[in-house]
Amino acid sequence: MNVYDGQRIAAMLRERGYAQTDTYTDADIIILNTCAVRAKATDKVFSALGRIRTEKKPGAIMGIIGCVARESGTDAFRRVPELNFVLGPQSYHKLPEILENPDVRLFNIDLGGLEKFDELPMPNTSPALAYIPIQEGCNHCCTYCIVPYTRGREISRPFNDVIRDVTHAANTGATEICFLGQNVNGYKYTDIDGTTYRLSDLIRAAAKLDAVQRIRFTSSYPTEMTDDLIDMFRTEVKLLPFLNMPIQSGSQNVLTRMNRPYTLDLYIDIVDKLRSARPDIQISSDFIVGFPGETDADFEQTLEIARHIRYINSFSFKYSPRPHTAAALMPDQIPEKIKSQRLYILDKLLNDIQREFNDACIGQDMVCMLDGRDKTGHHWVYRTPYMQPCIVDTETAPTLAQIHVTDANKASLRGKII
Ligand code: SF4
Repeated sequence: MNVYDGQRIAAMLRERGYAQTDTYTDADIIILNTCAVRAKATDKVFSALGRIRTEKKPGAIMGIIGCVARESGTDAFRRVPELNFVLGPQSYHKLPEILENPDVRLFNIDLGGLEKFDELPMPNTSPALAYIPIQEGCNHCCTYCIVPYTRGREISRPFNDVIRDVTHAANTGATEICFLGQNVNGYKYTDIDGTTYRLSDLIRAAAKLDAVQRIRFTSSYPTEMTDDLIDMFRTEVKLLPFLNMPIQSGSQNVLTRMNRPYTLDLYIDIVDKLRSARPDIQISSDFIVGFPGETDADFEQTLEIARHIRYINSFSFKYSPRPHTAAALMPDQIPEKIKSQRLYILDKLLNDIQREFNDACIGQDMVCMLDGRDKTGHHWVYRTPYMQPCIVDTETAPTLAQIHVTDANKASLRGKII
């Protein structure tokens, strides 16, 4: 979501005659678009600001936007007096005010509006993969999560606005559409004529555009995986056979304390339904280890569910207490050393499963989408339908290519265009 917001802000600045610099020391305006989901991310923002304020050009405007801005509020100005603006995740459209009046500090961390989507321009060219936000905020209130505080209650964008953005992206070069939202499958918009649209309606409408070849969405909440959406995996071939559906923990006790009120049986049932709708579907998850009160037996159940579902690609983190959350106040916090040990064990298991899946891809032919050059600049990177990076050596690199997978390691595949 931050990448997408960054593209819209860059388009707004370009319209006003700004161009992107290679380094912040050359910039006239420096914007840190921030994430507050873990304490480490917030710490990094303030250490970067400490560096930037001493190295930036004299007179350069500097500010923070996003969830850390909302989390810190006016305290950000106290910590970094050189800041010119602090704007929360739903106030980016106010950025032009600071360009017109750089001497007046700009502060807005209000929630509840979608004006930024209307007021910031769309980029003139889309990358092959276009992110399209469809909702913001979350009503779930997991006890560890700062998102309901930083992004507010769920708001779904109007159906026609989303389809307008998808059409614009398709007309300006996008081949793949990724619908975005903190609780993306909770998307629900009722028009003035009383018609209610869900994520399945957006997928169906986007799939009708010839230029759109691949569709996916992230991030999904298990109990919002309704039958109409599961059915999309059966009927819509452009929907990729890959789904991020975070379980967070394999222990029912921990899930209850996390305020994630689904049973493990229900979660497994949803995965079974998805696999029956689309037998080649693969699932990824997020995990939190060391949640307050997590016992060895709870953790063992997390390993158990990972083995059972066989997630092919996951994000696992040590629990990190966040302000404004109930879990931060829970008494039975887990020592850092135990969290690290559990993370090591879980990561090893997830890596082994990922490696097995990657190995099983050797010999297969897959339609993949161009992602760009690799870090060395010497090879092309494609993305498989399961989002694995696939390294390819080729003179010409078409946006979509049929690739024969020849080799694999834990993190990536190798292949050749056929
Ligand atoms: S569903 Fe996701 S975004 Fe919403 S509160 Fe839970 S973890 Fe946070």
